[in-house]
Amino acid sequence: MSKSLVIINSNASACSTCAPQGCSTCNSSPQPTISTSLTRRHFGYAAVVSAGALLAGCTKNEPVSAPPPAAAAAPPLSPDLAVVQQSKGPIMTTLEEFYKMGPGPSSSHTMGPMRITYDFFQRVSKLPDDQLKRATALKVHLFGSLSATGKGHGTDRAALAGLLGKAPATCPPEFLDSLASNPDESHKVTLGPTTLNLTLKDIIFDSPKGDFHHPNTMTCKLLAGDQSLYELEYYSVGGGFIEWKGYKPPDKGNPKYVYEHAKDLKRFLIDDKVPLHKLLLENEMAISGKSEKDIAEFLDQVSEVMIRGVNTGLNTESVLPGPIKLHSKAAAMQRNLKNSNKGGAGRAVSQIASYGFAMGEENARGHIIVTAPTAGSAGIIPAVVKSLQDLKVPQQKIRDGYLAAAAIGYLCKHNATLSGAEGGCQAEVGVGSSMGAAMIAQALGEGPKVVSNAAESALEHHLGMTCDPVAGYVQVPCIERCAYGAVKAWTAYCIASEEVPEERRVDLDTTISAMALTAKEMNAKYKETSEGGLAVSVVLC
Ligand code: SF4
Repeated sequence: MSKSLVIINSNASACSTCAPQGCSTCNSSPQPTISTSLTRRHFGYAAVVSAGALLAGCTKNEPVSAPPPAAAAAPPLSPDLAVVQQSKGPIMTTLEEFYKMGPGPSSSHTMGPMRITYDFFQRVSKLPDDQLKRATALKVHLFGSLSATGKGHGTDRAALAGLLGKAPATCPPEFLDSLASNPDESHKVTLGPTTLNLTLKDIIFDSPKGDFHHPNTMTCKLLAGDQSLYELEYYSVGGGFIEWKGYKPPDKGNPKYVYEHAKDLKRFLIDDKVPLHKLLLENEMAISGKSEKDIAEFLDQVSEVMIRGVNTGLNTESVLPGPIKLHSKAAAMQRNLKNSNKGGAGRAVSQIASYGFAMGEENARGHIIVTAPTAGSAGIIPAVVKSLQDLKVPQQKIRDGYLAAAAIGYLCKHNATLSGAEGGCQAEVGVGSSMGAAMIAQALGEGPKVVSNAAESALEHHLGMTCDPVAGYVQVPCIERCAYGAVKAWTAYCIASEEVPEERRVDLDTTISAMALTAKEMNAKYKETSEGGLAVSVVLC
């Protein structure tokens, strides 16, 4: 497999890590208003949509708010960015790096900017009082792709929320919605002895073009009049990861169990009989320096955010933000289940699918989600967790399931890609479904061979799936794909747990390699550019 593919992989992901081209979301009143504007897929898409609308006899083409700029090749990234340097050697990814919490719909254009401004808020909060006393303003400048497409992604409201000291993992959805629906409202932020008033106007859409260190560059400034008291240049490098000028990646310990591929894991799991969740846990402790208790607490917080999102989605009916005018489905599916005559199988599928819809719709609303592995695929693992909770699976087993799912995600990230922009939807929903299958198998007490086979099966049946979001919004096909991804995770588990494990013909490493190869050979039209497939076939009118 091409090493360059692996390197690029680590920094970009469609709805999630979508740097530098990707997905977008905007608003439609009275729903959470992520404002409509230029999105990354707009230019090429607009032409195709116009032609399609004419052919379809549509005279009233909705202002699709300038969909996606065409399949522009990703500008080269600065080689000194840590994200470019960390794609070789043994797997060193940690749970906190992988399961990231923050607002959707885009991890690079929404979650990353909020994590950046929250980081800046924490830094300036620690400045000496005599400096803070002089402060008159906080300003954020968005550059490059963040400036060009930030309106569509709700970058400004996410950045303002972080600047106001709202933590990305716990910010209430209502607060994010209110920032968008009352754009002129002023909000107070207290920094030591000083209280400042901030509005969305303090987030400035600066130059979209220039010689930037990274396509998603931001500067944050604490000002005293025209004078800068403290400022820092940041980069939202994809997948919710952030860096800044002079960034040094945190020191990591050496993993106890060194592995790059599933076959390396097999040696520990089968030959040495180390349980998968124990292996992941011990590696996590060795690499991150965290205690077992810290790790359990983190996984419980991930679980809480996911389940809160599913429950919110199941109780919310709305037209989702953006030009598609897509009606949410989760709540209606859930309601209809009460009087369903579909029988056990039909009810089970509808139940799991409704959970996938619920979290996918929350992502589209720009509410808080967890990347698993990305924002566009963020509905799958929550649906799996909710369905395991329905079965009264104990929380400790669900924690073990998160660890098994992370192992699959790490292998795919390291040896292929998690990026729709690099590998199509197989890399996002395919990997999410594969993680879900591993999670179910692990949580239900299966051995490592069944866990691996379940993951392989789910991934195998997503190979080749393209990324072609309509109008550049992470809605169609993304939300429904989360529902399918969750159902397929259960299907894969059911098959893997019924077959003779040793007789499975295809192993996980082979399928991950096949995904990497397919990603490499996939036409750019199907890599989150909205220049092919559904994106050009569906006419919005
Ligand atoms: S089609 Fe798949 S990869 Fe593309 S944006 Fe949607 S969920 Fe992400």
